[in-house]
Amino acid sequence: GAEVRLVRRPVGTPVADDFEVGSVRIAEPREGEVVVRNEYLSVDPYMRGRMIDAKSYIEPFALGEVMSGGAVGTVVRSEAPELPVGETVLHDHGWREYAVAPAADFTRVDTTVAPASAYLGILGMPGQTAYFGLFDVAGMRPGDTVFISGAAGAVGSLAGQFARLRGARRVIGSAGSPEKVAYLRDELGFDAAFDYHDGPVREQLRAAAPGGIDVYFDNVGGDHLRAAIGAIRPFGRITLCGAISGYNDTRPPPGPDNLILAVGKRLTLRGFVVYDFADRTTEFEAQVGRWLLDGHVRLRETVVSGVHNATTAFLGLFDGANTGKMLVRV
Ligand code: NDP
Repeated sequence: GAEVRLVRRPVGTPVADDFEVGSVRIAEPREGEVVVRNEYLSVDPYMRGRMIDAKSYIEPFALGEVMSGGAVGTVVRSEAPELPVGETVLHDHGWREYAVAPAADFTRVDTTVAPASAYLGILGMPGQTAYFGLFDVAGMRPGDTVFISGAAGAVGSLAGQFARLRGARRVIGSAGSPEKVAYLRDELGFDAAFDYHDGPVREQLRAAAPGGIDVYFDNVGGDHLRAAIGAIRPFGRITLCGAISGYNDTRPPPGPDNLILAVGKRLTLRGFVVYDFADRTTEFEAQVGRWLLDGHVRLRETVVSGVHNATTAFLGLFDGANTGKMLVRV
């Protein structure tokens, strides 16, 4: 089976040579182990942070090892009675065609609720990030005006729709192309959207939200964060979810130079990691599963084919190649 390994720690924007595609014989499962044939692999922005050797909330990737990360697949051989052949499972064994590991590494998913790939998106880590980031971290309430950056991506497109479903007064999104802006407005029900390439974020945000915003869900950082601090009303709340605009910078990007406004406006800026909410999966699945089954959420995936193209898919995240969740179909 094919697999992709990290062989060099990227400096700046990662390049193809930082990775290596290999092929290995599928190991015989030992007692208690299963063999899973992957259907979809996830590529995610957080992986960029794990490529460097720095202290973080998560261990760096080891050089020469297969890139770990979310994947879904089917059990094709089993030496574990509790996980029989034919089950669809979610796991973290990453960028490979086949995963051979103890049954305990795999979580069964219910493909009658949604297709397997949804467990890498709305019903998985990105969905939880949007849900808890919006409702718990930012404490979004009905009537709030909400601004979301990276709004056409996996997390952002869900955060925007969840905000609308919970009664936001107005939902505003920014994204990187005219097609994405149209998608936000016409398909996802955002009240306003703009392309951040079209002019300063500060000005475009002011035009989209003349009365200001109450909540900012930050996926991007940089100018977006600065503009949101400027536009937010007193007692506004900012979820620091990610700052992808700086992930490939070789030196720390400058902080927002208007942070002093947070004092007078009594702002809350709060970071979080989705795993903080691991004990609330049941609540999450009940609510988001309901929205999904009732047809209240629209989903889009951008799918790249072939494990050997996982690197291309990953790099595409930094070029805005995806609308909705970026996936690799094995
Ligand atoms: P996305 O699906 O949103 O993909 C990344 C998107 O970022 C691209 O599609 C691109 O869209 C946008 N982007 C890339 N470079 C820039 C830039 N320089 N300026 C503005 N936008 C840019 O990824 P996810 O939904 O998986 O992740 C979104 C954010 O959430 C990331 O910051 C990620 O790190 C964070 N995150 C945080 C978690 C947590 O626990 N705190 C968990 C999961 C994700 P465009 O065309 O619009 O530029």
